[in-house]
Amino acid sequence: MTKRTKKVGVTGKYGVRYGASLRRDVRKIEVQQHARYQCAFCGRNTVRRSAAGIWNCKGKACGKAMAGGAWTVTTPAATSARSTIRRLREMVEV
Ligand SMILES: [Zn+2]
Repeated sequence: MTKRTKKVGVTGKYGVRYGASLRRDVRKIEVQQHARYQCAFCGRNTVRRSAAGIWNCKGKACGKAMAGGAWTVTTPAATSARSTIRRLREMVEV
């Protein structure tokens, strides 16, 4: 079989509906949403989305759930908040 969705990928399911640029934007998000991410606890590539903002590690003997972004495990806002908290904590400790 030849690959017939080279350009549209997962948004091929929408056919010709909703317009090309909306399908392009939603493709990026849907790919992130269905991807596996690395687990911060066990290091395996087993974190999958279970609901909006909830991510579960599917690794055996781990199975941790974590809060994250709606479509990706972490967001730029979460990353900057984490580094700010870390920086302020180090200021207090010194
Ligand atoms: Zn894990």
